[in-house]
Amino acid sequence: MLKMRFVRVLAIFISAVPAFAVPMTLRVDATEAPRKIYHAELNIPATPGPMTLFYPKWIPGDHAPTGPINDLAGLRISAAGQPLVWKRDSVELFAFHINVPPGANSVDVRLDFLSPAENGTNSPVSATSELAILTWNQLVLYPRSQASDHLEITAQLRLPEGWKFGTALPVAKTSGGSVEFKTVSLTTLVDSPVLAGRHFRRIDLSPGATPAHYLDIAADTDDALSAPAEVIDKYRRLVREARALFGATHYIEYHFLLAASDQIAHFGVEHHASSDDRSRENFLTDPISHLVGATLIPHEFVHSWNGKYRRPEGLATRDFEEPMKGDLLWVYEGLTEYLGWVLAARSGLISPESNRQFLALSAAGLDNRAGRQWRPLADTAIAAQLLYDARSDWESRRRGVDFYDEGLLMWLEADVSIRKQTQGRKSLDDFCRLFYGPPSGPPQVKPYAFEDLIETLNSIALYDWKGFFETRLNRTGTDRAPLGGVEAGGYRLAYVEQPSEAQRATEQIRPGLSVAYSIGLRLDRDGSIVDVLPEFAAAKAGIGPGMKIVSVNDNRYSRDVLREAIRNTKNGGPLDLRVANGRSFVTFKLDYHDGEKYPVLQRNGQAPLLDDIMKPVTR
Ligand SMILES: [Zn+2]
Repeated sequence: MLKMRFVRVLAIFISAVPAFAVPMTLRVDATEAPRKIYHAELNIPATPGPMTLFYPKWIPGDHAPTGPINDLAGLRISAAGQPLVWKRDSVELFAFHINVPPGANSVDVRLDFLSPAENGTNSPVSATSELAILTWNQLVLYPRSQASDHLEITAQLRLPEGWKFGTALPVAKTSGGSVEFKTVSLTTLVDSPVLAGRHFRRIDLSPGATPAHYLDIAADTDDALSAPAEVIDKYRRLVREARALFGATHYIEYHFLLAASDQIAHFGVEHHASSDDRSRENFLTDPISHLVGATLIPHEFVHSWNGKYRRPEGLATRDFEEPMKGDLLWVYEGLTEYLGWVLAARSGLISPESNRQFLALSAAGLDNRAGRQWRPLADTAIAAQLLYDARSDWESRRRGVDFYDEGLLMWLEADVSIRKQTQGRKSLDDFCRLFYGPPSGPPQVKPYAFEDLIETLNSIALYDWKGFFETRLNRTGTDRAPLGGVEAGGYRLAYVEQPSEAQRATEQIRPGLSVAYSIGLRLDRDGSIVDVLPEFAAAKAGIGPGMKIVSVNDNRYSRDVLREAIRNTKNGGPLDLRVANGRSFVTFKLDYHDGEKYPVLQRNGQAPLLDDIMKPVTR
């Protein structure tokens, strides 16, 4: 049944391509993935004369020119068996110039991709001895003669012996360790990573339903695959809740590609018909580990609608060389962050209580961002391609990619506002159905502008939405986050003496300590100071990032020792921090007397709309 549907959809894609087009071919040898090297061979149709081939530079989902060109090696180009000289463009370093000899109708390209063995700036570890996540943009060169939607390519992949795989890329046939994929556009190829591994499990998340949804898991051990039945059930509910929220799907089938390993980098990348979800080895088997990453898969799933199907004009580019414009990332990422938070609760992947605790953590971070004095939220989106790589020292003064968490707060406020204005008859769910909903169909991109959002919101509830967003996006000089949605949703941000379960879980999984809202410090496990909040006692005493706390009131530093000393300031205890700064040691005496402070949401007098929003809409 599914195979038949693929044939029909491919016919639509192919008919959009000029009849004379001959597909490029790509053969990837991934048998050496465990030793961190891939080999690729391409055949690219060509005509005699000068030709330029490009390595993908602007990677969808990264919103930045992160194509890992430093890891391209072994480049050899030939035509009819004769080697060609290539020369890199001295301005556009992702471009390679060649001269195609008379009589040749294609060129052959061989290249290696050096898969990182340690996490660098934009090239995360993606292969272990047991599994690999293969992203095709790392393995191709292509001409810019047509938009990437219209360049056709037929890929083949060889995997290490005994490895299984999952991908949204339609398979033509498999034989032995080799997979032949159907011909697709270069856009679809790059949008369809492959997850492969020795320890592999596929779980049907929507049995008997159309479209199909699969959770494909590759892990470093067999044990890591044994997700409890109730966890699987929650992911099945996620599929139903998302379908109910948007009212349509824009894929033929969907693959959640979950890599569970402590050796790889942990993050997610969205695709039209799949998501590349990378988590800890015990993600599915350890409740604390799952709690800390509970919104990862919902977030990436939401992107199939918000980001892939509907995409800001500035991010819907012709190919992988055209620069992206990030000004609407507060929608692309911010609304996704909000809907991922909503769906995680509606599907039971996280309890409402825990979800509120994580919201309190991010709201407190934003509410104490010194950088909002000079930098408007809009600028964090425009500068996203710089900020993704920004360091975390002085992050509060700089601001980071705040359009994620602050976007969540803005969209929560919009949702609460619609509910109040319409006396509960309408909500942001109605916006989702109108903007991202029917008709269902195969992947396509429908770009939008700011005005399209405003128009759709006004059709749900007439309001000054333009002013609503522009105020929150452009203001500076305030030190407060937009907490209107939290407050009108029945809660207020408050500080208590005990860290929440969510904060404890986070500190257990990602070593470090935040005492940001008492003395204004974020620290690494060993006491190294990561960030200092300028308005708090530690900063006022003269402490800065890069220093390292060695002792607290003459006791050797540990998380507990620091916490206890902060607690005792309430009883008049001192807070003397001995700090190493390069070659010197300095003792800073903090003028602080208010004990421990950790963020939580507490009920205020208003109706708890926040909890209504998190209630499941399916059974
Ligand atoms: Zn995202």
